[in-house]
Amino acid sequence: MKKRSRLLFFVMVCTVMVIGYNAFIKTEETTTLPPKQSVVEDGAAQSGGEVQPEIGSGTAETGQAEKTGDGLAVIAQPESMTVLVNKQNMLPENYNPTDLVYPDVRFIFSEKLDKRKLRKEAAGGLEKMFAAAEDEGILLAGVSAYRSHSTQKTLFERYVKRDGLEKARTYSAFPGTSEHETGLAVDVSGSDGKCAAADCFADTEEALWLERHAHEYGFIIRYLEGKEAITGYQYEPWHLRYVGTELAAELAASGETLEEYYDAVPVTN
Ligand SMILES: [Zn+2]
Repeated sequence: MKKRSRLLFFVMVCTVMVIGYNAFIKTEETTTLPPKQSVVEDGAAQSGGEVQPEIGSGTAETGQAEKTGDGLAVIAQPESMTVLVNKQNMLPENYNPTDLVYPDVRFIFSEKLDKRKLRKEAAGGLEKMFAAAEDEGILLAGVSAYRSHSTQKTLFERYVKRDGLEKARTYSAFPGTSEHETGLAVDVSGSDGKCAAADCFADTEEALWLERHAHEYGFIIRYLEGKEAITGYQYEPWHLRYVGTELAAELAASGETLEEYYDAVPVTN
């Protein structure tokens, strides 16, 4: 697709519903209670001193011109494989993916929990990717994939109750803004589970393999190093997002984030 038509498509899939939402939450959350210190998207301890820039007010070119302040747009086509979910674009409250399956891959836990699930197409990609890695002696394991909106909501509310809204949103994602709710995102570690969703995963042989090959199976490293101001997240080498092989290859080649691809870069840039 041409950049212009992609943009047009993106404009079409986004409504201009604006929600009063004062400050951007800085991080997503784990499915377990996070430690008292700040955590990054998937629960890893924040490596000290990093200032996570807040995304500015609205986006310049997504067609969400009415969005002001720290407003959030509600995504109109949440089922799209290439959907952009971030701190500015949230899933509709009632959205639940309808084609979730259990990918037949290793996880770092043995229970058959919802957080193993991915949408069918993404699950197929994950199975192929894990098998290809294993052929090269790289043993990958899933850490956490799907998280329902109600789970996210329950957790977020629990944190707010415990720590207050201001503090809760420094480590927990506002419901609807976690990519894990799409069923297209999965956190991956090595099979030993060491450094699962933690900064030390970077530079492991598993992380390096994923960086080189994930796109061949339709996945991108969603929160890239050096793009924190654009994605709103710290570098997360473990957080993979399925977008399909075509787009994944394009992004891998260009080094762009999903935000840049959609020209949805924060206006502060
Ligand atoms: Zn994640």
